[in-house]
Amino acid sequence: MGIRVCKFGGSSVADADQLRKVRAIIEARADRCFVVPSAPGKRYSADEKVTDLLYRADSATRSPDPKGLAFDQIFDLIAERYRKIVSDLGLAYDLDPALADVHAKIRGGAGPDYAASRGEYLCGLIVARLLDRPFVDPADMIVFDAKGRFLPEETQTRVADRLGREKSGVVPGFYGAQADGSIKTFSRGGSDMTGSIVARGVGAELYENWTDVSGLLMTDPRIVERPRTIPSITYRELRELSYMGATVLHEEAIFPVRIAGIPVQILNTNAPEDPGTRITAAGHDAVPAGRVTGIAGRKDFTIIALEKTLMNAEIGYGRRLLSVLERHGLSWEHMPSGIDTLSIILKSDAVDGKLDQLLADIREACQPDSIDVEKGIALVATVGRGMSHQPGTAARLFGALAGAGINIRMIDQGSSELNIIVGVENADFERTVRAIYAAFASAPRN
Ligand code: ASP
Repeated sequence: MGIRVCKFGGSSVADADQLRKVRAIIEARADRCFVVPSAPGKRYSADEKVTDLLYRADSATRSPDPKGLAFDQIFDLIAERYRKIVSDLGLAYDLDPALADVHAKIRGGAGPDYAASRGEYLCGLIVARLLDRPFVDPADMIVFDAKGRFLPEETQTRVADRLGREKSGVVPGFYGAQADGSIKTFSRGGSDMTGSIVARGVGAELYENWTDVSGLLMTDPRIVERPRTIPSITYRELRELSYMGATVLHEEAIFPVRIAGIPVQILNTNAPEDPGTRITAAGHDAVPAGRVTGIAGRKDFTIIALEKTLMNAEIGYGRRLLSVLERHGLSWEHMPSGIDTLSIILKSDAVDGKLDQLLADIREACQPDSIDVEKGIALVATVGRGMSHQPGTAARLFGALAGAGINIRMIDQGSSELNIIVGVENADFERTVRAIYAAFASAPRN
């Protein structure tokens, strides 16, 4: 039987009730061998995540706390949360020695990464007790270089070796260590990354990512009421949608499982029977022709459009334009082109304050006949592997936008036919998403 690695997010480990659900999920299948917990998250909307409290505690050792608490007062809030979890679970486990050690080290200046990592560490100790499984410290196997860069291949060798000796275990998320032993965390939300690393390390058959939503939605529920859940999505589609602002996993968490071809299942701790969303390599399932997987977008882009007669015959034109951007330290998002036109799309906040100089430099380097700037553009990406080689998809999309009276300022279709991106005015953003959703949500389900 294959191995499953189960990562539980902050809301899944927020209190004893949630942790009982975690235990029930783990005990429901014998192949749920490795568990990666986050730190306790919010129990209610005004609550504070343990990770945030730990960052506050660490900075209170150096400068006054913005909310006016002393280091010991903040630490007490943290310690009380853990003690309450242990007692509400009825565990015969004295966490105080571990809490005292963490207290002394943070107070002694161990730094923000060490402090923040203790949220997962302490939670991992409790989960290991609760499930009666070995606790495995990621500091011994997830490695970062002296500059704090994650080292994937060395980590893979170490994780495979260390966890290869265990049948099951609990590995706290979010951190590893540098060669000198100092603790280093991933960026926020990084327990997803640990789950993915562990899944690759043990050669898992499936990486289950347990959260508080029943999978990835087809579009933003703040724009479309109760959008459908996406049953399955490829790594590439997910990348396109996350780039456009859809969030479900830590940005880098897909890489370790992707290398190993391990699928990810997004599942809901509060509704474990819901099927959730499966993230896989392409070709895992047959998708109905014309099916759109998801729609996502973002506001506030700037388009710089250049026109020059016979641009197509001029060698080095694009290079000159891109080297101006490079000199200004700007990365571009899209570059749609015509025979005599070339447009660059940039995030508006990236060009704020430097647009005039940038345009002057482009004029000098590229000598365009004209140069137009459009600010306040929103980009909406319609993503779907079911769209490729499907005549009619674009017609349906543009028909929907025409029907809604939306003026399209830019169109870009990736050569893979995986997505069609339209640029519209910021003010039309929400209407655009709704119109596209309405046109495609009725397409056949998987
Ligand atoms: N606890 C960390 C955070 O809040 C990491 C995680 O939950 O994934 O960012």
